[in-house]
Amino acid sequence: MATDLQIATCKVTSVNPATGEILREFERASEDEVRAAVARARAAQPAWRDLGLRKRLAALREFQRRLHNSKSEIADAITREAGKPRAEALVTEVLVVLDAVRFLIDNAHRLLSDEPVPHGNLATKLKSGRLLREPYGVIGIISPWNYPFSIPATETLAALAAGNAVILKPSEFTSLAALELRSLLHAAGVPEGVFQLVVGDGVTGAALLHSPIDKLVFTGSVATGKRIAAAAAERLLPVVLELGGKDPMLVLDDANVDVASSAAVWGAFVNAGQACLSVERCYVHRSVYEAFLAACAEKTKKLRVGNGMDPETDLGPVIHERQLRVVESHVQDAKLRGARVMAGGSRLPELGTNFYSPTVLADVTHQMLIMREETFGPVLPVMAFDNDEEAVRLANHSDYGLAASVWTRDANRGERLARRVQAGTVMVNDVISCFGISEAPHGGWKASGIGRTHGRFGLEEMVRLKYLDVDRMPGMKKVWWYGYGERFARQMEGFLDCQFARGLGERLRGALRAARVVGRKQL
Ligand code: NAD
Repeated sequence: MATDLQIATCKVTSVNPATGEILREFERASEDEVRAAVARARAAQPAWRDLGLRKRLAALREFQRRLHNSKSEIADAITREAGKPRAEALVTEVLVVLDAVRFLIDNAHRLLSDEPVPHGNLATKLKSGRLLREPYGVIGIISPWNYPFSIPATETLAALAAGNAVILKPSEFTSLAALELRSLLHAAGVPEGVFQLVVGDGVTGAALLHSPIDKLVFTGSVATGKRIAAAAAERLLPVVLELGGKDPMLVLDDANVDVASSAAVWGAFVNAGQACLSVERCYVHRSVYEAFLAACAEKTKKLRVGNGMDPETDLGPVIHERQLRVVESHVQDAKLRGARVMAGGSRLPELGTNFYSPTVLADVTHQMLIMREETFGPVLPVMAFDNDEEAVRLANHSDYGLAASVWTRDANRGERLARRVQAGTVMVNDVISCFGISEAPHGGWKASGIGRTHGRFGLEEMVRLKYLDVDRMPGMKKVWWYGYGERFARQMEGFLDCQFARGLGERLRGALRAARVVGRKQL
């Protein structure tokens, strides 16, 4: 935290990573401003909760309508600020959010309504139990720059549907995308106090973390996630942590090499490799290894790198020069340790300061940084394996466990392997699209995080569970209350026997003994 404070300035700047143009400068929200926002949210939330789910969903439906109408302008804004090709902004950002609203409209009533809890234990049959799902109150959301619209929006929508107020601290690199989200939500009827933005960097994020919010949903790097978890532990603040990944792709000997190589190329280079679900490690059976590599290299060389606003562009820039240096250092380390460069492998200064050529590396090993640390750039490192056992062992040999994929013509074999891979999601014969399946939970194992966003489990993260128990015989003292003694202990032994003894006779004898408890003298 101290480092953040030292390096922070009072302004954050949105820059077009393709051109270097400064799009807008923002004053960083101060700690006092963050606390004032939380106070406003706290005051506004009860009315939002009391509005009821039907009316809250009506506002989200209106948000969906407005977003659909302005899809082109929103995609333009995302591409200008985050660099990704416009088509990707439409598909991986706008579409994902439109469908997240569809999911809530279709499912939130069922998922948030009270749920009966039938009791099995005879002793508690006279009670009626229900599970209630109540909003936390004020939920803080801290989000990254790589999906600057879809990540905060999907989390916000679930929180709002459940009746919470939300304070969003977007990435300092993509404040404008968050402003678009705010405009759409407010125009759709979400009250200003119920959804608020606090713009800033890590200092503002830390201020939100330390403010009196009720839960924090954080998406970002493992390093920041660990700091957040440590600070949250101090006050037992519940957190969801969606952190980094090093997703493996396993290409089995019977895979369709043409399809799998296209998947690897898209999976490694979509959003210039800056997706938490990117293919970051590719393991290929030795029998198809060279053919797969040749196909990947050929397809990669055809990719067009440039400004994401150009409809012909396949890959845009990386977000900033610092990110590019990480990519460069991983590739350099791999080359020094013997990796073969099959395509790319260098910056593209003729396009601008933030462009890197999509890179395919062969013969990588787990000694290399490129197979251990998150690269978060346009690099596809490929390694051979000899059998399924080895493939699973290599896939699981990682601190991360966000997602993985298995490629085979035999779906049963793919599923058998998928069950053994340590990851929050494993796809058989696809990559990354799980993020666009609104029903699917998103989240990781191991260092990739805690908790889930999206789908049923993402919605569950936005509510506190309350178990409500109503006794159906309020005029009756419970048999287990005071009035103990030897007779009572024998009756209770009978009660246990009547429920759990193996033989029918023993059960019946137990029931008779237990029945004597009726009419017992009690305090
Ligand atoms: P980051 O950790 O640097 O920043 C994420 C957010 O945290 C930003 O808003 C930042 O301002 C804020 N922040 C930084 N320091 C903070 C502090 N001390 N206290 C509170 N907030 C703080 O991550 P990034 O570079 O923006 O994003 C890239 C990372 O995010 C990658 O590791 C990527 O894998 C991960 N990511 C994960 C998912 C997922 O769903 N699992 C999705 C997208 C990105």
